[in-house]
Amino acid sequence: MYFLPKRILVVGLGITGIAVARFLRNRGVSVTITDISTDKALGGFADEAREIGVNILLGGHKVEIFQNTDLIVLSPGVPHTIEPVQRAKEKGIPVWGEIELAFRFIQEPIVAVSGTNGKTTTTALLGEMLAGSGFKVFVGGNIGDPLIGYVDRKEKAELLVVEVSSFQLDTIQTFRSKIGVLLNIGKDHMDRYPDFNAYSRSKARMFENQQAGDIAVLNGADPQVRLIGEKLNITKLFFNGRSRHEKGATINGKHLFINLSETSQSSFDFSEMKLIGRHNMENASAACLAACAAGGTAEGIQTALNTFEGLAHRLEWVAAVNDVTYINDSKATNVDSVARALETFDKPVILILGGRDKGADFHALKGPVHDRVKTLIVMGETSSRLRSIFGGLTPTVEVCTMKGAVRSAHQAAAPGDVVLLSPACSSFDTFRDYAERGDLFCQEVRQLR
Ligand code: ADP
Repeated sequence: MYFLPKRILVVGLGITGIAVARFLRNRGVSVTITDISTDKALGGFADEAREIGVNILLGGHKVEIFQNTDLIVLSPGVPHTIEPVQRAKEKGIPVWGEIELAFRFIQEPIVAVSGTNGKTTTTALLGEMLAGSGFKVFVGGNIGDPLIGYVDRKEKAELLVVEVSSFQLDTIQTFRSKIGVLLNIGKDHMDRYPDFNAYSRSKARMFENQQAGDIAVLNGADPQVRLIGEKLNITKLFFNGRSRHEKGATINGKHLFINLSETSQSSFDFSEMKLIGRHNMENASAACLAACAAGGTAEGIQTALNTFEGLAHRLEWVAAVNDVTYINDSKATNVDSVARALETFDKPVILILGGRDKGADFHALKGPVHDRVKTLIVMGETSSRLRSIFGGLTPTVEVCTMKGAVRSAHQAAAPGDVVLLSPACSSFDTFRDYAERGDLFCQEVRQLR
């Protein structure tokens, strides 16, 4: 249990900011909440904050308020590198993320999942495996409910399955998981980190507070993850590639073999899995491994593997129109996830790319686009850059709207083709978020019928 200081500044007024403010007010802390957005842009959040009884400062960050507080709590969307936060740090004011605050009030064991791609899918699947094994489970963090919301819940869980982003790891101090899963590290968020190494160091923080008896679940085929693993002195379990002396999971065709120790071995069957793509077999391997290590039952794990439907906006089947399959992968906001989406289909693909640039190196997609994309449709702020990179490799059409994108894809497609929205960019140039972008895609596809 941690004793809270008198004055706390919460930065970022969204779902997490509200949850943090409510938590702190329940404990009598004087809370100020600040956001760069205006009252109008924040919609109902500002009203909610007023109801909780906190001071609200919107439309920018005043440096003075960052200097006159005892603790700063950042929402996951706010970079810890912004000027007022840096100045406060220089003055010795502690800066935590919401998961650090929550962790100080949590006794139950945490299974945490991080990685560039696959966090939400793996967290949700792992949650189902453990719930199906009879555990009372809380699933949250960067997915769904913020971790802080768990603390005041009356019904306590036996295990917490928590998705953790690199931004959240940037602002931990003591946060520790009993089992930490690192799925992969690819190039992403280069607009928020100075370079790939800095991003990678942030992911490595997942394990920095782990102690003897804790477990790291690591992607054995990812060089950056392996490098991080080399420095760890805790139990390491590898999925997606391990050498003979290493413990972990191995895929053989549609079977997964798990070797936790000489006396604890099990196998699972992927043949009824509804998730598609090799990358989802990797995610499922990681989830099985973490579930076994957490004490999940063979039956609970296998049932979840067979029944988990996958999540919206991640290689989500939308419709078949004139024998053309439409897939919504709006959550694919980086190059790796698009490459994995393209390798999933063995049919000609009409690919819709584009949105806001996150500092990505799109050149890595040249090979997959050349080999697999029949027509490329580019949209959003990055459209002309994308056109200049890929235009010489495959027929490329530039469009201004999602309607235009879907109509152009429809015209270009022949029976048997796949139309794939997998943008490799964030959505914030045109949409509120990836979900709004994906929903509009689905709506336009349904109108084709
Ligand atoms: P995250 O929470 O890390 O963003 P999601 O499960 O929401 O991960 O998936 C985001 C995108 O990444 C989707 O397009 C999905 O198909 C893709 N993806 C999922 N798992 C992986 C993986 N292991 N490697 C690469 N891409 C993946």
